[in-house]
Amino acid sequence: MLESGCPDNRSFAGIHVGLNWSLLVVAGLIAWSLATGLLPAASPGHTSGAYWTAGIVSAFVYLACLLAHELAHSIVAMRRGVRVEGITLWLFGGVSRFSSESSSPGAQAWITFVGPLTSLLLGVVFFLASVAIGGGANNPGLLAATLSWLGYINIILGVFNLLPAFPLDGGRILQSLIWLRTRDRLRATRIAARIGMAFAFLFIAYGLITFFAAGSLIGGVWSIFLGWFLLSAARAEEAGGLIRQALSGISVADVMTPNPVQAPDNITVEDALHGYILASRHSTFPTHDAGDQLSGLLTLTALKNVAPNARPTTLIKEIICPLEKVPTVSPRDPATNLLNFPEGGCGEGRTLVVDNSRLMGIVSPSDINRMLQSSIAGRAPTLPSPASAGRK
Ligand SMILES: [Zn+2]
Repeated sequence: MLESGCPDNRSFAGIHVGLNWSLLVVAGLIAWSLATGLLPAASPGHTSGAYWTAGIVSAFVYLACLLAHELAHSIVAMRRGVRVEGITLWLFGGVSRFSSESSSPGAQAWITFVGPLTSLLLGVVFFLASVAIGGGANNPGLLAATLSWLGYINIILGVFNLLPAFPLDGGRILQSLIWLRTRDRLRATRIAARIGMAFAFLFIAYGLITFFAAGSLIGGVWSIFLGWFLLSAARAEEAGGLIRQALSGISVADVMTPNPVQAPDNITVEDALHGYILASRHSTFPTHDAGDQLSGLLTLTALKNVAPNARPTTLIKEIICPLEKVPTVSPRDPATNLLNFPEGGCGEGRTLVVDNSRLMGIVSPSDINRMLQSSIAGRAPTLPSPASAGRK
């Protein structure tokens, strides 16, 4: 699950955190259900202003707990040498994005487990705090009732995430454990994906039953939707496993177009059009500055956006996609790393291959497609496939 286009970005412990707009919907729903239903029932006799204040504060504390869950994944991942791209918080919770993979099943299991563990620990801490100020009593105070809800919701979050269904943490832990036992990562992915699909069908069946038999519209539709979401995630995970297997052993250097022509970034748009774009079959050019250092990427789209009468006076350094916005890899990186970059952006899907700050090559989306097609066509039939053989 890759999320891009984050409207608001923050950094915690050096980890980039993207906040999706759907979080406001979540926060609003939580504050509303707490202020108008749960808190008045748990601790009667307060003003509606007090309930709303407690509801809104709890909603944001809950989001902070989600962030703590994801930060736990990311911090442990970084300690284990996995490259962390960032965290996105959105409607379904959090997503940690890693741009490299854990090399051992043990590391992967631990990176995954610390998330739910953090939620469960937070849940226990909130419960204990609630009990300490009288939360167990018959009519607890508003603060105690709020803390008790925060405890409850964190425990639910921890337990739900431990369900063995992709992309929930439990699915990943299950895959790590099978990987640990069988020493076969692809087979582990297949088995875990199948179990995830079974869970997804259970959710869908439960949703259909509650919808038709019990007439529960919201609960039924929500459950069907969640099942469908888990089902497509399990399928994607299985397909991703196949691709990773097909690409194992292939490096970026095998895929890239080596030694691309570089354009100096102090020429005008007019000169770039005639000297580079029209003179070659390429539509993007890496650029270098006066000191011969790689400076960015010139794209056809950026050139086209310059009005014709401004072309003779606009320098391409003013319109290039700057280096920090173009994904870069080393020629020795595994080719699977190329699949982890989000599409779009001003680099138009290009990845620059850099070694010791020297440009070695460029990878375009069509290079990646070619690599996927040839590696799957060339290698997939030789894969052992116990799962599909057993089914037929
Ligand atoms: Zn998690």
